[in-house]
Amino acid sequence: MKIICVGLNYANHIEEFNSKRPNEPVIFFKPDSAILRENKPFYIPDFTQQLDYELELVVRINRLGKNISERFAHRYYDSVALGIDLTARDLQRTARAAGHPWALSKGFDGSAVLSEFIPLSNTQGINNIHFHLEKNGVTVQQGYSGDMLFKVDQLIEYISKYISLKIGDLIYTGTPAGVGSLAVGDQLKGYIEDEKLIDFQIR
Ligand code: ZN
Repeated sequence: MKIICVGLNYANHIEEFNSKRPNEPVIFFKPDSAILRENKPFYIPDFTQQLDYELELVVRINRLGKNISERFAHRYYDSVALGIDLTARDLQRTARAAGHPWALSKGFDGSAVLSEFIPLSNTQGINNIHFHLEKNGVTVQQGYSGDMLFKVDQLIEYISKYISLKIGDLIYTGTPAGVGSLAVGDQLKGYIEDEKLIDFQIR
């Protein structure tokens, strides 16, 4: 199983980071050891002084595919979850400045928080999902999947040109604006529409 992540996929997040809108999807990976499920607490590692949250929608691939075209991509997933792409922003900044990969700053243990999956048939469709994150009871991120620069089906077409998709692979589809930092004791709750799917503590 692999975890494929998309960077810079919402215009308002690109703005808050003063980044440039990419012409093609920005793709990176996390190892499977990064997954943190079942609302288990996350313990801040001592190698970072700036741990950031990024709330994202996650789709899970349910059939094997390569060179999947956008119009058939919807056949390759049927459920959606919430994920938090935890990022050691200080390490990422250093790596970026040196032109080095982000692997460690985004791939450490526990950095891929993942909720349970809900069937897409229980939603208004993959491009019509509202989601939000509360930190200590205050809403800090609000996203709408219709705002993705590259929609899920386009992402699947793009990624599968290069990399075979297998059953169980996860795609973290990028974060909207409102990214911020975490401290010991913070409580994070993530929702798709009104359904709470994430509820865990930073320790
Ligand atoms: Zn992200």
